[in-house]
Amino acid sequence: MELLSPAGSFEKLKYAVYYGADAVYTAGEQFGLRAKSINLSQKELKQAVEFCHQNNVKLYIAVNIFAHNTDIAILPKYLKFLQEISVDAIIISDPAIFSLAQNYAPLIPIHISTQANVTSWKSAEFWFKLGAKRIILARELSINEVKKIKTEIPEIELEMFVHGAMCMSYSGRCLLSSFLNSRDANRGNCSQPCRWQYNLIEESRPGEYFPIEEDSKGTYILNSKDLCLFDKLLEIIHTGINSIKIEGRMKSLYYVANVTRTYKTAITDLKNRKKPSYNLKKELDKVSHRVYTEGFFENFDSSFSQHYESSSYIRNYQFIGKILQQKGKTIHIEVKAKFSLNDELEIIFPEIEKDIKFKVRNIRKEDDESLNFTKPNTIVKIDLEQKIPLHGIIRKKLI
Ligand code: SF4
Repeated sequence: MELLSPAGSFEKLKYAVYYGADAVYTAGEQFGLRAKSINLSQKELKQAVEFCHQNNVKLYIAVNIFAHNTDIAILPKYLKFLQEISVDAIIISDPAIFSLAQNYAPLIPIHISTQANVTSWKSAEFWFKLGAKRIILARELSINEVKKIKTEIPEIELEMFVHGAMCMSYSGRCLLSSFLNSRDANRGNCSQPCRWQYNLIEESRPGEYFPIEEDSKGTYILNSKDLCLFDKLLEIIHTGINSIKIEGRMKSLYYVANVTRTYKTAITDLKNRKKPSYNLKKELDKVSHRVYTEGFFENFDSSFSQHYESSSYIRNYQFIGKILQQKGKTIHIEVKAKFSLNDELEIIFPEIEKDIKFKVRNIRKEDDESLNFTKPNTIVKIDLEQKIPLHGIIRKKLI
């Protein structure tokens, strides 16, 4: 079973690979559903394919917008380009792009996006007969429905989401953002109004807000919890799913790395007939997330999946920076968030058991001038006694 991780930039893609992804999905600057993510230029896409293939990792490219007439004219050139650079699959939801891909990139396998809402074996069969290699299942399916699809169409590859944010609507069938903010979710531009705080107003009393559900914090009637199927991995493996997917092309490098290594370690443990440890699952609480749910996996109950009290993220740890290199006792850090002398920090690595904690005893600029604290987007040096593995990421526990 493949572990598939998100990458909103080339840098995040590299960390997904370093931290254990078997495959990575991303998008170019057009036609993906995360317009606010940095995404990859054509030059970077080419480099990303080379990087992934050198590391025996597959790269899938999302071309999963619902295309308008203006897109149709420019899609063939882009699809031809994706074939030229040998991406491993194109993720598609729109039948128009599906047929264009078959014409202009016939050698590249097509994966049917979750945006296409495949919720039955008959729908899977429809796409299979048209030539799709894989279905990325709708998140709204129970495991029994997934098993039925696998039994009826064993030839088609199945991919399912196991972790990350969910929509309150069927993926892609949502016009909230277009309606309230003129930003089209189906063209990668969702402003997430399902996370906003809502109240009731009576027409003749402007400015008087009536709570819909009494709670001092307000109410967030449309706000979905985040999916987490960590505890269901064994059952998913037994179902014969080909790929499990982590959501989050907009998330940080730290999020992608830590969630990827957590699932990777759990899959390896299960394959070795070992139960993943409680501490391993705890890593999923150390990334920014909303309250977790197992969503539709068993029997769906909306009260378990909506989070009415708040739309804020739970943040127990802060992403401080990544380690660029170690020279002797000195590590060079690309700083993402402030830290200070005497802070207690942790460094995580692709292998969880190598993680370390340490206290900051000194901070220096690149020219060796001493500092008491750092600023984001700078490079600093600190001393560390031990030799550490490559690709370390620094985090700080928030009190
Ligand atoms: S508004 Fe919310 S439910 Fe609708 S597409 Fe955006 S994230 Fe999904």
